[in-house]
Amino acid sequence: MTRPGNLTIERALALARHSDSPDHYTRLLYSPAHRAASAQIQAWMREAGMTVRVDSVGNVIGRYEAATKGAKTLLFGSHFDSVRNGGKFDGNLGILAPIECVAEMNARGERAAVAVEIAAFSDEEGARFATGFLSSKSLVGQFDRAWLDRCDAAGVSLRDAMRDAGLDPEAAGKDALDPAQLAGYVELHIEQGPVLLDAGLPLGVVTTISAGNRHTLTVKGVAGHAGTVPMKMRHDALTAAAEMVLVIEKRAGAGALVATVGILRVHEGSSNVIPGHVDFTLDIRAGDDATRRAAEDDIFTACEVIAKQRGVVLTRVRQSESKVVRCSEAMQLRIAEAITAAGVEARRLPSGAGHDAMMLAEICETGMMFVRCGAGGVSHNPAETVSVEDAGLAVRALLELIRRFPPAA
Ligand SMILES: [Zn+2]
Repeated sequence: MTRPGNLTIERALALARHSDSPDHYTRLLYSPAHRAASAQIQAWMREAGMTVRVDSVGNVIGRYEAATKGAKTLLFGSHFDSVRNGGKFDGNLGILAPIECVAEMNARGERAAVAVEIAAFSDEEGARFATGFLSSKSLVGQFDRAWLDRCDAAGVSLRDAMRDAGLDPEAAGKDALDPAQLAGYVELHIEQGPVLLDAGLPLGVVTTISAGNRHTLTVKGVAGHAGTVPMKMRHDALTAAAEMVLVIEKRAGAGALVATVGILRVHEGSSNVIPGHVDFTLDIRAGDDATRRAAEDDIFTACEVIAKQRGVVLTRVRQSESKVVRCSEAMQLRIAEAITAAGVEARRLPSGAGHDAMMLAEICETGMMFVRCGAGGVSHNPAETVSVEDAGLAVRALLELIRRFPPAA
């Protein structure tokens, strides 16, 4: 038998060749490369002894039956779309490692107390139609039909793209999973951060998942001539915004949270004009909603004080709010036991990135396992990497999880 993890890593590298771009890895929903990747995943699932179906939104779902009829299903899953110029393991790892597990069981003629299904989600990143979690939302019965009219950068609607991919847009989202059949959902994912790397640990148990909460802050001051308005008489929107950005950094650093200003625009900016209008974004995330809200309150109060002192006007708009999702305690325990059984310490850590697991948590017991991210912890980046050893440990831990799953769970 080949080394555990080898198959997963080899396949992740092979799958990344199905890319929309010849020189980097980009795979957008329903592109030719996306369809080729889907066909390849289907082939690997069949090779592992699974029956395969493709659902109404192009999710590929493989099934490996339990030892007994009528058993519940333990569902694994992750996504095979990518961001532009993404990493080869983001999403794909959570499809390929469970396939390696099933291949191993199939080779031994082994059946578990639960049926194993693996869902390869067609669209999580939403990079083509700005539809985050389209696939998993469809699976939990929350497909938004308004998405069908969304167009990509080339003006192609989701409806037409689905037709081109051989799918029926009218059927989209009508084949949600039956929660009564599910024993639970587990998503294996690359950590996309440096915590496990820093701790010297290959695997982790995710406690909470938080997607970003986004705000836009607008600062309006008084534009003026860079040469004629004395410093003391200025109402510079940019220096006010700069002070606000530093307040945000300081407040986030003082608590268990992260905050990022990723966009800052100086409207009608010019080298010889005092900035009169600036807006910037704030993305803020914490392991629980109360911690995040308290920090938001502190930040906005402090920004108001800065605005007052500098004689500028601050307005803010909340762009999106997503609640923190807590992974099921029972599933966290199972995943921790499985990691320990694979011979490594089970570190618990929160996920600061959103995942399909957030949607599945609405219908069943949900958990996530993280795999250490190499290359300094970078992700959504071509340098993203996972070692064969770590992938092998993940495969062993997932096998332990499957084998320990009781029939009545
Ligand atoms: Zn991902």
